[in-house]
Amino acid sequence: MSGSEAADAKKLVRSASGLRMVPELRAARSPFGLDEPPWVPDKECPRCMQCDTKFDFITRKHHCRRCGKCFCDKCCSKKVPLPRMCFVDPVRQCAECALISQKETEFYDKQLKVLMNGASFFVTLGTSDKSELMVCRLSNNQRYLVLDGNSRYEIEIVQISTVQILTEGFTPGEKDIHTYTSLLESQHITEGGNTRAIGMILQYKVPGSEELTQMKFTASEDYSSNKKLSASWLAAMHKVSKGGLRKSLQGAL
Ligand SMILES: [Zn+2]
Ligand SMILES: [Zn+2]
Repeated sequence: MSGSEAADAKKLVRSASGLRMVPELRAARSPFGLDEPPWVPDKECPRCMQCDTKFDFITRKHHCRRCGKCFCDKCCSKKVPLPRMCFVDPVRQCAECALISQKETEFYDKQLKVLMNGASFFVTLGTSDKSELMVCRLSNNQRYLVLDGNSRYEIEIVQISTVQILTEGFTPGEKDIHTYTSLLESQHITEGGNTRAIGMILQYKVPGSEELTQMKFTASEDYSSNKKLSASWLAAMHKVSKGGLRKSLQGAL
């Protein structure tokens, strides 16, 4: 087993919100994960925080598992999967949070799976003029980008500082390049139309070094099927970088 995927043991944890399956080691958790919010204490919410209905013996209060606020049954009736908090089953959420979680579930079911399945790229390290054909994928614990060829690299997601998606017909400096300041907390700088992604430039920190390392990925031109796979892998990377998750994070605050 490689370093990136060791220590993936999980344990079942029961909280007031529900049953969760979490990595045993905190350090092994997904960088896309979210902590459970503290629940607003009962005595601080005599009324539904959405419709203002007073709580009593008939109108019971429920806590949204995503934001921790109190609602009446009507305003907090949806049970929606919440993979970022590792809940085993769908959990009760307010209307606003349910919407965000539904979008994220799409992200987890599609984009992350594409990234974990991997695709082939010609990879160039730094300013080298040599490239190597490598299979790139997101590790099962979502913490590393793993590159396999004659050499092997493991780039920790939290160490990635910029992601540039290169689209067809690009020349450096043109607005067809999409730049993000990090995979996890990205700012969308430019957006071209629906152009096809053909490559990517990553900048990341190697632990113990202050300098950024650059790596360029170019979709393989040799086999059309591979090229299509590489394009969808890059499109998934683009969606992750675009800050869909960041927006959700803000929604949760
Ligand atoms: Zn209500
Ligand atoms: Zn909520």
